[in-house]
Amino acid sequence: MTAATTTPLPPCDLAIIGGGAGGVLAALQALRLATTPLRIVMIEPREVLAQGVAYATTYGEHVLNVPAARMSAFDDRPADFLDYVVATAPPDGPDRDTLAHAFIERRRYGDYLRTRLQEAIAASSASLQVIHDSVCELDAREDDATLQLVEHGPLHAGGVVMAVGNTPKPLPARGAPQLPEGRSLAAWDFDAVKAIPADADLCIVGSGLSMVDTVLSLADNGHAGTIHVLSRHALLPLPHCHGGAATYDPAPLQAMDLRARMRFLRAAARQAVADGLPWQAAMERIRPHVQALWQSMSITDQRRFLRHVVRQWDVHRHRIAPEVHAKLQAMLDRGQLRLHRGRLDTVMAMDRGLRVSTHTRDGRTDEFDVDYVVNATGVEMRAQTMRNPLLHDLLGKGHAQPGPHGIGLKAARDGRMVDADGEPQPRIFILGSLRIGCVWESIAIPELRGQAETAVRELLALPTP
Ligand SMILES: Cc1cc2nc3c(=O)[nH]c(=O)nc-3n(C[C@H](O)[C@H](O)[C@H](O)COP(=O)(O)OP(=O)(O)OC[C@H]3O[C@@H](n4cnc5c(N)ncnc54)[C@H](O)[C@@H]3O)c2cc1C
Repeated sequence: MTAATTTPLPPCDLAIIGGGAGGVLAALQALRLATTPLRIVMIEPREVLAQGVAYATTYGEHVLNVPAARMSAFDDRPADFLDYVVATAPPDGPDRDTLAHAFIERRRYGDYLRTRLQEAIAASSASLQVIHDSVCELDAREDDATLQLVEHGPLHAGGVVMAVGNTPKPLPARGAPQLPEGRSLAAWDFDAVKAIPADADLCIVGSGLSMVDTVLSLADNGHAGTIHVLSRHALLPLPHCHGGAATYDPAPLQAMDLRARMRFLRAAARQAVADGLPWQAAMERIRPHVQALWQSMSITDQRRFLRHVVRQWDVHRHRIAPEVHAKLQAMLDRGQLRLHRGRLDTVMAMDRGLRVSTHTRDGRTDEFDVDYVVNATGVEMRAQTMRNPLLHDLLGKGHAQPGPHGIGLKAARDGRMVDADGEPQPRIFILGSLRIGCVWESIAIPELRGQAETAVRELLALPTP
């Protein structure tokens, strides 16, 4: 790809590709760990940092899926987000303890990261330049790396953190690209969802957290039309419940095969309930051990997990605020929200609206007519199909290889990107969802902040090129 010619960019010590939450967490670490006037450059096409798809919403009904007490940007200051929430709350608002358990608006999380970034810039001996552009190529060498920016040309960097995050999946239906404009929407196009007329009937494809966002926006608008939700398993996210973590010892799980692990977890959930705790307490107990559990599973069991267990895992692991769950349940109970189990086949434009055809599990074809279809199928996990030219460049040149099961990219345990020959790239680290195949639990803030800190510490410890 040829870059437009502009004034050449001066080399930098650290380049961060992507300015979503992951990139900002890496910048925060670099700014606070720097002891010399390092030059840090972040490349992000969006105008506003710390948004990505998760925190770009401007709507108050979209809340975090994790209580405020667990969303700090820093491992060593676990209450930092809570401190921010308390400091910015109205004087007559809820007390600190209530806020610690609250599910705060997601838009405020982006504000929090940007506030901490400004504070870190002011306090650091390093400098941060943000370039609004995309990286389309990356050449890795032993001592440095060269990034190719679409508009700004080449940038030489002593080290690179890749935080390119989530790529939404296209609608998995025949006919999807030809649908009339404005009738087929992405769940993450929050403004377009918000503009759906209140009397419209619609079909949301996917039943995970993006579906929840869409339903909340519709409910907030006083939606009166029917909302069909179509997914292969028709499982809805389950609610959080206060009660802390169970106290069982998760160590024996490491040596078990997948079937035994599932039996163990079901028994742990039953035991939690018998002890007067919610079943969620059993999941909370293994939350910090998920990466180790994934890595200790055989490749065959990982494949089995991806084929047979992942949907159940997702609804138990990625839970939603209890009040959000109650709202969905009420809409289901009164028949406004209709759950369909099946696989989307075709969406066709009709004289008035769209016809959605699906295949059900028992081999039938089910059809229903709607005004809009909303794609809430989530993020693309397979690196080869992600529509990101940088990833294609890295794979094509052999600088990277797909992760286990073709998910994301392969990374060493410390996060260094692994090339086609199996060698870790000394100066390129990956963080976030691209590491899911290697560690499974890799998109939530607790993992991102830990990965960001490790990457930055390792890169700063390398000799300057
Ligand atoms: C709807 C939703 C809700 C979530 N809620 C929570 C929650 O409550 N709690 C929690 O812990 N986690 C939550 N998460 C998970 C997690 O916090 C987010 O996924 C997080 O935003 C991931 O950040 P990221 O920077 O890795 O990726 P992204 O947010 O996707 O950001 C990546 C950035 O990289 C840029 N980029 C991509 N390619 C290039 C390129 N070639 N050159 C330059 N820039 C590039 C993109 O423009 C983008 O801004 C949520 C996720 C989603 C999707």
